[in-house]
Amino acid sequence: NTEQTEEWLQSYVDDWVAFYRKHTTDGEVASYIPVLQEADPDNLGITIIGKNGITIRSGDDSIPFTMQSISKVLSFIVGCMERGVAYMLDRVDVEPAGEAFNSIIHLEMKQVKKPFNPLINAGAITVTSLLEGKTSDEKLKPILELLEDMLGYRPAINVEVYESERDSSMRNRAIGYYLLEVGFLESDLNITLETYFKQCSIEVTMDDLARIGMILANDGEDPDTQEEIIPRQVARIAKALMLTCGMYDASGKFATYVGIPAKSGVSGGILAAVPPRVREEELPFLDGCGIGVYGPALDDKGNSIAGIRLLRHIAKQWDLSIF
Ligand code: GLN
Repeated sequence: NTEQTEEWLQSYVDDWVAFYRKHTTDGEVASYIPVLQEADPDNLGITIIGKNGITIRSGDDSIPFTMQSISKVLSFIVGCMERGVAYMLDRVDVEPAGEAFNSIIHLEMKQVKKPFNPLINAGAITVTSLLEGKTSDEKLKPILELLEDMLGYRPAINVEVYESERDSSMRNRAIGYYLLEVGFLESDLNITLETYFKQCSIEVTMDDLARIGMILANDGEDPDTQEEIIPRQVARIAKALMLTCGMYDASGKFATYVGIPAKSGVSGGILAAVPPRVREEELPFLDGCGIGVYGPALDDKGNSIAGIRLLRHIAKQWDLSIF
């Protein structure tokens, strides 16, 4: 029964979190956005939400953190819902870049007609410029509404983190000016960047990421209510992008060793969606579950160092790889 299963899974996850917490010392908290440096590098936690409300929560839960790059999945989804998939994919490609998330190098290559994908900064800033609305608040509103549909509450923007990034992000401004010069942006640059910094500063918890992950895992449908929150085609593209580009230039390794569509952010969060597949063994309720991880100590690619190792361990033990 559900309760026994929950208890049984819980005891495993507690052990694994305790073990991988020791790995947090191998990483470092992001510092290029000054306020993010205040995070506690020892923190590590995970929430798994599966069928029938089954919830496993371990480690430092309930610590709020900002979405950062994880928000790129949502802005892309909202863009597709507002403008249609064809419109978006005409303007942003869906190919892994194999470069750091804030790389500028590809933009200068002559054959590049659009940013590589919506999950690197150049693509994400372009996506944000395609969102409807004239002001940053108008552009953000549908993102916050989508989150509210999924989470049951409307998350807030962490103003301190927003201002910290706004006042420090020379690289993103450089990317923005480049995009403007080559004509990829469809909104005013300053409004686009303001929106982008605000979406990165939306504050969530591991539980929130697990719920979003579960809805994506189920092709955009909330399995509790059977309500379609994200159109199926859009949810599937989002997962394909997460799998191929979601962990920056470590996406190939993550697909190889973990095998789950996931998206990380430099605040240390990871959103993961475990798509349902027919399985015969004893863990069917993990089919279609969502996973949220928080661990602000990062590896050199900008992914939660202990978070990735924890996910890798869980995916192996419970056979979660989609391959
Ligand atoms: N706001 C961050 C930036 O643009 C997001 C990057 C990330 O999470 N990788 O630099």
